[in-house]
Amino acid sequence: MSVLEVEHLTVRYGAVEAVRDLSFRVEEGEVVTLIGPNGAGKTSTLLGLVGLVAARGSVRYRGQAQPHRTPEALSAQGLVLVPEKRELFASLSVEDNLLLGAFQRHQRRESGIRADLEWVYTLFPRLLERRTQFAGTMSGGEQQMLAIGRALMARPKLLLLDEPSLGLAPLIVREIFDILGGLKREGIPILLVEQNARMALGLADRGYVLEAGELVMEGRAQDLLHDPRVLESYLGLR
Ligand code: ATP
Repeated sequence: MSVLEVEHLTVRYGAVEAVRDLSFRVEEGEVVTLIGPNGAGKTSTLLGLVGLVAARGSVRYRGQAQPHRTPEALSAQGLVLVPEKRELFASLSVEDNLLLGAFQRHQRRESGIRADLEWVYTLFPRLLERRTQFAGTMSGGEQQMLAIGRALMARPKLLLLDEPSLGLAPLIVREIFDILGGLKREGIPILLVEQNARMALGLADRGYVLEAGELVMEGRAQDLLHDPRVLESYLGLR
């Protein structure tokens, strides 16, 4: 059984068709990336997938069809989105933002939340140093770390990441991708949407290339990294 199977996903905003008939899957333990230029429909794919925008087509998560999906219901099942705009609570502390990531678990009276906070602080020592700081006063890279840390507090069984490298300096991007590599080694499946094709394909097992809302290529990440069409269009090499 696949972790995620998306079939014939179509997302429209009025007359604009942002995603057309897109099918892809994520298997257990895999990092899968969706790459493509600005406006290719990557964010719309994630929003349609979690029910934040209306979408046609089918989404199956761990064998279960999700016709009336919402981000809350999916996150209760372990499918957690880290949105592009991060959507942190700016006037709450780093630690409170992290704890809010475990809100549903807290409601279910689950144990292990404190231990997971320690786990997230081990992954991101920077967050521990700044645990009492307001989230809104953190740097862009730190906010991205916090957004990922908060998602981890929900104990994800599939993590969806929307452009974690956006607007960040190369050194910070490297740091964030190192963390994602660690999560991959822990066996957490990841669906990674990225414009930074080189970094994304370097981490991923498989990739899908989107252009103007349509799938134009798919394959093993290592093959895509060396495909002349990908090299020319996305990696800036000839
Ligand atoms: P980027 O990397 O720039 O975020 P993307 O690949 O994530 O690009 P989307 O944000 O999904 O692309 O956008 C796909 C298309 O849908 C674009 O043409 C965009 O202008 C359009 N679009 C996105 N959101 C809306 C909206 N709320 N209303 C109308 N059109 C939209």
